[in-house]
Amino acid sequence: MNNKQQVESAAIVLDCREHGESDVIVTFFCRHYGRLTGIAKGAKRSKKRFVNKLEIFSSLQLLHTVPQNNRLAFIAEADLCDGFLSLRNNISCYTTASVIREFVLLATKEMEGDDGLYPLLIWSLSSLNSGRPPLIVLILFLIRFYALIGYSPILDSCLECGQQLRTDKTYCFHVASGGLRCSKCTEKGTNRLKLSQGTLKSLAAALQQPLERLNRLQFSKNSQEEALTFLHSYGRQLFQREIVSWAFLIK
Ligand SMILES: [Zn+2]
Repeated sequence: MNNKQQVESAAIVLDCREHGESDVIVTFFCRHYGRLTGIAKGAKRSKKRFVNKLEIFSSLQLLHTVPQNNRLAFIAEADLCDGFLSLRNNISCYTTASVIREFVLLATKEMEGDDGLYPLLIWSLSSLNSGRPPLIVLILFLIRFYALIGYSPILDSCLECGQQLRTDKTYCFHVASGGLRCSKCTEKGTNRLKLSQGTLKSLAAALQQPLERLNRLQFSKNSQEEALTFLHSYGRQLFQREIVSWAFLIK
């Protein structure tokens, strides 16, 4: 493809920063190209083309070039599909969306991204925007996200003895090895994150259900806490760093 040729993409704004006097550099997550960073020339001046569109979390239809060799794309036009206004006006939703954004930025490189990540991102922002409980949206996002990037935690059997889940045993998640240990195999005094049967059942359902049915899943208060603690610890282990925006979540 000629790199001057323009294509259309459905995209979510992940990051936006001013560049020089009149330009804006924007990082998107696109349906077909994954993460894409581009320059919107004159965006600070051109009210008609870009105003109120290049904002973090906005869903857009873009007209852009496809960059090569890690160069910037040229963003020719942007049409707003959804500004997710309710999400922006609710602090719990906004801080949750910020955690989701941080995970996507951590896990992707330019022009890379799993095909399933764009629909998951849109589902998460739409769910937050329509008033779903933010922490449940975050749990559902994270469990699917880890699976999409190829690091699904092992939650259907004990890592040590290999036995499938049984209702007469209790389980802990072992962060460093990314899986469960049953009560028999858990070493005393080691760092343990308890995952009760109810939590494991809800997480398994969250992995199996199609996106459009995810919002039917329920998590008890206890399951929410267990799931969030485990998903947070697992993410820190996976990326070997703190998830900065996590501290701003409203629990
Ligand atoms: Zn075991």
